[in-house]
Amino acid sequence: MDLGLKGTVAIVLAASKGLGRASAAALAAEGANVVIAARTRQELEQTAREIQQTTGSRALPVPVDVTKAEDLTQLVETTIQEFGRLDILVTNAGGPPFGTFDNLNDEQWQAAFELNLLSTVRIIRLALPHLRTSGRGRIINIQSMSVKEPIMGLLLSNSIRPGVAGLAKTLATEIGADHITINTVCPGRIMTDRILSRPDIKAKIEQGMSKEEATADQTHDIPVGRIGKPEELGALVTFLASAQAGYITGTSIPVDGGLIRSLL
Ligand code: NAP
Repeated sequence: MDLGLKGTVAIVLAASKGLGRASAAALAAEGANVVIAARTRQELEQTAREIQQTTGSRALPVPVDVTKAEDLTQLVETTIQEFGRLDILVTNAGGPPFGTFDNLNDEQWQAAFELNLLSTVRIIRLALPHLRTSGRGRIINIQSMSVKEPIMGLLLSNSIRPGVAGLAKTLATEIGADHITINTVCPGRIMTDRILSRPDIKAKIEQGMSKEEATADQTHDIPVGRIGKPEELGALVTFLASAQAGYITGTSIPVDGGLIRSLL
């Protein structure tokens, strides 16, 4: 299937590794030029080189902290200077810290709001004029299964990420007439550094277990019986960015091996 992505331009946030990287690589494999952003310059530049080598598409690294408004402004300006257009925006960020109610203070709540919700608002605001000009704009938010079902020990994620789904559902109506779609993808458990940083899993790795051994007890409640691969999420992001996905908007779609038990 030709996804109609050749020659398009995509910004992918938090894309030096993990789910953002897999999304950028999948878009580039379909012929999109990708502008990838994250804080750590060296890792980001290495990722851009690897994506460019394996896909033949252009991958431009732009160091960005998504919590800094000026970095996001610079990112969009650089994209337009380099490519003259923007068709696809994939929002993403690091995850908020683990913690329960008694352990979280105002600063941590504020930081999680800025990292996961305000950064999304700001980059969408900056990207919208260009997505309107594109005439086939796509916004895809990488969030979490916590949008649909709270995860124990992740109070900040459970509280703030559903706000992004609410933003997307509302914006779908406001920007639908501009031929822009907006959707949220909801990873369950996917093998990246994020899942390996969970305190219980990290402790097992520090004791000498392999990644697979340390996460083995995380698979018993997943219907397909395994942790997901980043490229399985990247494939959904790429389809949602495609020409064929023009009638899908305002949705939140899990990539979770069936882990979420709710009907919707
Ligand atoms: P990851 O492998 O740890 O990658 C995180 C990426 O985000 C890195 O490229 C990191 O680069 C970048 N990043 C972090 N903070 C940033 C900031 N302030 N500004 C710009 N870039 C930033 O994590 P992942 O698994 O891909 O997770 C991506 C998102 O999905 C996270 O929000 C995570 O909580 C969520 N999620 C993941 C899973 C899962 O199973 N993997 C499940 C549910 C939700 P720098 O550190 O260099 O900036």
